[in-house]
Amino acid sequence: MSSEGPLFPASSIDRQFAHEIVRRLVDRGYVAYYAGGCVRDALLGLTPKDFDVATNATPDQVREIFGSEHTRAVGEAFGVVLVHGRIAKKRCQVEVATFRTDGSYSDGRRPDWVQYATAQEDAQRRDFTINGLFYDPIAQRVIDYVGGQEDLANHVLRAIGDPYARISEDKLRMLRAIRFASRYSFALDPATGQAIEESSEGIQLVSGERIGMELEKILEHPNRLWAWHQLDACGLLKHIAPELLPVKDRELFGALPKEQLPLALVLASMIHPWGQSGVLDRDLRPIEDPHWRTTLEAIQHRWKLSNELFESACTCVDASSVIAKSEDLAWSQVQPKLLRGWVDESILLAECLLAIRQWPIEGIETCKQRLSVPIQVWNPPPWINGSDLIQAGLRPGPVFGKLLAQARSMQLDGHLVSQQMAIDWLKAEIGKTLPGQ
Ligand code: ATP
Ligand code: MG
Repeated sequence: MSSEGPLFPASSIDRQFAHEIVRRLVDRGYVAYYAGGCVRDALLGLTPKDFDVATNATPDQVREIFGSEHTRAVGEAFGVVLVHGRIAKKRCQVEVATFRTDGSYSDGRRPDWVQYATAQEDAQRRDFTINGLFYDPIAQRVIDYVGGQEDLANHVLRAIGDPYARISEDKLRMLRAIRFASRYSFALDPATGQAIEESSEGIQLVSGERIGMELEKILEHPNRLWAWHQLDACGLLKHIAPELLPVKDRELFGALPKEQLPLALVLASMIHPWGQSGVLDRDLRPIEDPHWRTTLEAIQHRWKLSNELFESACTCVDASSVIAKSEDLAWSQVQPKLLRGWVDESILLAECLLAIRQWPIEGIETCKQRLSVPIQVWNPPPWINGSDLIQAGLRPGPVFGKLLAQARSMQLDGHLVSQQMAIDWLKAEIGKTLPGQ
């Protein structure tokens, strides 16, 4: 049931703070442990993101011990109190949750009520064995009521108890299972996998927004391709992203590097109009998918993604397309596409496009060189602006905009190499234009 040994030897500030909280609870006669993700991560040799404490003190008792100025009830219905403070001027906080069992689940997502309970019962209500571990930092021992250590050692992701029952309580656990298995490259325990497959339709009870939050973590992680295939294989994908069903065959998505990447970039790779190299027209040119924006809109709506994220994904699609084709384009056509940010991501996506299509890389190399200098150099102030045109006697109108754009392109492409040259050019153009302006 337990094993000995200091699991958290490094004394990070967060760990010191969590340790102090456990110590004060224990001094007052309560049981208190580190719980869940931090124990799992420490046993895997990873640095825990944050520390959660579980205790048999009730939320009122926790607030009484640490004082109302250092505590905030965050999940009152679930008995969770946030304790905050400072160590060496650094702000720290720890979630302190009272051991509990969950009551019945009638909405497929959250318990109708909770009841305070023992540590052992608290372990049983958690989702997966690897997430059901406790650690006693004072006695320095792991407390394992659910076989989590063995599953960690064997790299298996397994539901605690009957997987069908656990999934029917909270359907989100199906996505959490894929997320944790993918994050740690663990195998899904066959019974857990089977239960997900047979329960997959129930995922529709979970809000699109909550699904989107889970998929964001899955897709940003280096193991996204494995996870995507799992989601498809167990029947979840057709419910959570029917618009993206063809993505698993899209080479661009598969060509992304195995590293942490932002969701906007990953989505761009999934819906990019050139994302599938096999599809060629009669002249052996790639067929573009004209519906990529509509697909992206559908996904934004379904997962309730922000407009900012949508725009960022569009920027990645646009910019990567011109970068990938920049060998055939004038710099003045490429440069404006790089002014909306996401440049490194767009270059990366363009490189993946070239890799799957075996297009020449020279254009990208030139782009990279141009971008390697400060932005003022590759995006210099224009030599001619609207007031120059007015001074030269031109009235604002269609010609006005055209001349400005033309001057800008010529400046960027190096056909106008000084301001004087630009003004001379403008005068000559106006001379041609003015009569019929
Ligand atoms: P992460 O590093 O992603 O935060 P975590 O294990 O800390 O991983 P959280 O979602 O923060 O995951 O949840 C903390 C703990 O609460 C989990 O380790 C698990 O024990 C429990 N838990 C969280 N969500 C559920 C759920 N839906 N069903 C059952 N237990 C859950
Ligand atoms: Mg967590």
